[in-house]
Amino acid sequence: MAKIILTGDRPTGRLHIGHYVGSLRRRVQLQNTGDFDEIYIMIADAQALTDNMENPGKVRDNIVEVALDYLAAGLDPARSSLFIQSQIPELTELSFYYMNLVTVARLQRNPTVKSEIQMRNFENSIPVGFFTYPISQAADITAFKATTVPVGEDQEPMIEQTREIVRKFNFVYGDTLVEPEILLPENEASMRLPGTDGQAKMSKSLGNCIYLSDDAATVKKKVMSMFTDPGHLQISDPGKIEGNTVFTYLDAFSNKGHFEEYLPEYQDLEELKAHYRRGGLGDVKVKKFLNNVLQETLEPIRKRRAEYEKDIAYVYEVLRKGSETAENKAAGTLSEVRHAMRIDYFDDEELIRSQQAYFNDRAAREQEGRRPRRGGKR
Ligand code: ATP
Ligand code: MG
Repeated sequence: MAKIILTGDRPTGRLHIGHYVGSLRRRVQLQNTGDFDEIYIMIADAQALTDNMENPGKVRDNIVEVALDYLAAGLDPARSSLFIQSQIPELTELSFYYMNLVTVARLQRNPTVKSEIQMRNFENSIPVGFFTYPISQAADITAFKATTVPVGEDQEPMIEQTREIVRKFNFVYGDTLVEPEILLPENEASMRLPGTDGQAKMSKSLGNCIYLSDDAATVKKKVMSMFTDPGHLQISDPGKIEGNTVFTYLDAFSNKGHFEEYLPEYQDLEELKAHYRRGGLGDVKVKKFLNNVLQETLEPIRKRRAEYEKDIAYVYEVLRKGSETAENKAAGTLSEVRHAMRIDYFDDEELIRSQQAYFNDRAAREQEGRRPRRGGKR
């Protein structure tokens, strides 16, 4: 079976380092291994509109921002199709059919949707489109017959729901769709990177982000004012690592090479953590190290972004071509789905032939005064 990746982001803002460790870094690595037959990266504008319906300008403006972040991070249009969700109408049609396979109660149980409803104060006014976005996400994934979906932890319930829809569809209509596997980040810290304020998740909507496109001075300022251990007042005090965002970021970003380069008095992160726990290590020193690590990671991304920003026409050309490739693939799946659901009337020559035979037979029997043959048309 072909190995296929589908994943994406909502164009609700520029991408941040949570997106990077949660999914983007992995996508680029997987792309570069050459192990995958097809890679589709989607800018989910239709999904973004489900909770930004009154703000279409925001969604429109962020398409190019997300695309620039993709290219800057190393996604290569020659190997990955970068596309815009709304430009693939097949996805909407698939969602419409899948809606029959999911109950309202099942959607209400989805923990990510639950917490997002709370976050957006939607409790008494949930837009139907927002409520059903896990179904549309199932359409996005299955349209490309994706086998692998590299995403952060918050997406786990979505992939589970997709797998249920696939099983139900295949059971009712016959084997057609492919059950995807989730691919979570390799380390705990990257599953759900906290915000610079220590909140559970770095998120565009919470304003606690370090963006891939932030300049060096902004990154440094954000790092130096980051949340650490509030009980660690004096350098000599023992410090806590758990819930200390600076160390969580080091878990997600640092490697041994960074220690050799910027902090050679420590072998590795474990040694640094041990010192912090013992006491005698100040926050400023750790933050300066984190700043060096982040700058080293972000500098090449920033540089590439600046180059692509000079040619926005090229960026849209990439998206146009990617959308074309994506639509071809989705159209193929949709026609299999229509066939399986027996709504492919005009593509099925056998349908006309057999129904004609049925009516001919019935007319002949009536003429001869015989009863019509039992059973349906087909
Ligand atoms: P929004 O607030 O509009 O939902 P978001 O910041 O949650 O935006 P999404 O576009 O919903 O971003 O998510 C895109 C991808 O990035 C998903 O795979 C998601 O799991 C991952 N992701 C988002 N935030 C984080 C984070 N803080 N840590 C790890 N992965 C993340
Ligand atoms: Mg989100």
